[in-house]
Amino acid sequence: MRVLVTGGAGYIGSHTVVSLIEAGHEPVVVDNLSNALRSVLARIAEVAGVTPEFHQVDVRDREAMAGIASSGIDACIHFAALKAVDESIRKPLEYYDNNVRGTIDLLAVLSAAGVRNLVFSSSATVYGDPTELPLREEMPTGRATNPYGWTKIMMEQVLTDLQAAEPEWSITMLRYFNPVGAHPSGLLGEDPRGIPNNLMPYVTRVAAGILPRLRVFGGDYPTRDGTGVRDFVHVQDVAEGHVAALERLSGEPGLHVYNLGTGRGHTVLEVVKTFEEATGKPVPYEIVGRRPGDVAESWADVSKAERELGWRATRDLATMCVDAWRWQENVR
Ligand code: NAD
Ligand code: UDP
Repeated sequence: MRVLVTGGAGYIGSHTVVSLIEAGHEPVVVDNLSNALRSVLARIAEVAGVTPEFHQVDVRDREAMAGIASSGIDACIHFAALKAVDESIRKPLEYYDNNVRGTIDLLAVLSAAGVRNLVFSSSATVYGDPTELPLREEMPTGRATNPYGWTKIMMEQVLTDLQAAEPEWSITMLRYFNPVGAHPSGLLGEDPRGIPNNLMPYVTRVAAGILPRLRVFGGDYPTRDGTGVRDFVHVQDVAEGHVAALERLSGEPGLHVYNLGTGRGHTVLEVVKTFEEATGKPVPYEIVGRRPGDVAESWADVSKAERELGWRATRDLATMCVDAWRWQENVR
């Protein structure tokens, strides 16, 4: 399949482009490089043996996107979005414009070009504060605690309404839990600017001596050790989940929703301990107050993806830590 990949130079996008090439597909990468480097394309080529077609274009540029969409595209995977929770609180209009308008613009262009197969990057954040665990796809989506989360809820609504109005669409919403890790080659990974917000990039920077210690947000949650529980999933497993969804569901009209996680929760302190054991690097930490907006626990029921997509995560937490650390050592 010739697959348009928006945001394909980003963290999850670049790993998915590699998985697409490895599965024999032809990715066409569109990225405005607002949060990625052009050099990622050469790194993809080094890993996968093929330099993907690349267009430095914003998904809101309908004219440029129309030209690309009419070049024999069979399906689209839509990653392009802004994703920093803190920044979204400070710049809500930018987030709604980029994420929600960007998605509407993309859908209009795809529709006009006759492309009716879409895989969309959603997030476990749409479930809000869970009342029951593990989280299942049919559970109601909740209230977001920040504009980023609202953009995901809104985009899911836009996609749901479009699929209801135009039932020939195959729309797959993949709700990622906590993607971490990096490509085992050490060539692809996540390199957030400034001080990271997310746990794993923060841990690798502490281990590298760039940051003095991890601040563990909250030691008084009702969990086994008092720290938050998340379903960490290797980014390569997430990438492979997109290929599975694309291959199973392209040309299958409907609205398809899947969790992508491991089905297992780990506490923040378990991540620290596993990282230390797997890499031999100490990660000093202190327990501080809770971070506003955080939920105590979140993990996925992954049985639907296993049953219907034939996909399941195969890499464990130690592998996620080792791969994240290898990447950190390479970018240093
Ligand atoms: P990322 O920032 O690394 O990748 C997003 C890419 O999209 C970047 O390369 C950026 O330059 C590009 N982009 C942004 N706006 C664009 C626009 N208007 N036009 C063209 N390109 C644009 O982020 P990621 O972690 O790879 O996330 C990919 C997707 O997965 C996002 O939609 C994100 O919200 C979603 N998601 C990520 C996580 C996570 O933990 N990383 C969790 C759940 C959902
Ligand atoms: N966390 C932490 N210190 C940090 C970053 C995150 O203790 O510097 C915790 C956070 O409170 C949550 C877990 O690690 O319990 C995962 O946070 P992350 O931001 O990576 O993902 P989220 O699930 O919030 O999207």
